[in-house]
Amino acid sequence: GRGLSVDGFSGLIRDVADFPKPGILFKDVMPMLADGPAFAAAVAAMAAPWRDARLGAVAGVEARGFIFGAAMARELGVGFVPVRKPGKLPGEVHEIAYALEYGSDRLQVQRGALAPGDRVLLVDDVLATGGTLAAAASLLAGLEVELAGGAVLIELAALGGRARWTSASPLLATLRY
Ligand code: AMP
Repeated sequence: GRGLSVDGFSGLIRDVADFPKPGILFKDVMPMLADGPAFAAAVAAMAAPWRDARLGAVAGVEARGFIFGAAMARELGVGFVPVRKPGKLPGEVHEIAYALEYGSDRLQVQRGALAPGDRVLLVDDVLATGGTLAAAASLLAGLEVELAGGAVLIELAALGGRARWTSASPLLATLRY
């Protein structure tokens, strides 16, 4: 329907050259988030393919994956589980380390946050090199849950990040640049 048209929100995503580092073309979703109808249309478009996916939970990757993931969880009527940088989640956590261009980083999820057997949808705002989403998928793969798929608002296709999504489950992008 009309509410799912990307024309209703894609124009509010701003390209920022050389942010946060020289050579990066940053996709700034903040103007879109600040616009009620545009934000609603973007979340509806992201959620639409997953309505019949029998999801048990949505997991969102820090930080903008929280915004889209939590909104999608509400849209789909399931709970939200954050995948966070180290030192943010209290109690026992599952953790994965992954390589960055320079150095490494880690992602954590709270133990017990996802029920065994849950079908989990992994959400982030942007798929760039794919390293972040691949690491989050590996983290979930080590738990007793089923990865239902991945959902990003934006895929930067030229960066080839999709190749790092090795799960057999679908990785869906609402917008491709
Ligand atoms: P990557 O691991 O390279 O796929 O990077 C994905 C993460 O970095 C996502 O959580 C994005 O929020 C952020 N990111 C990477 N590149 C961009 C970009 N060009 N514009 C906006 N966010 C980006």
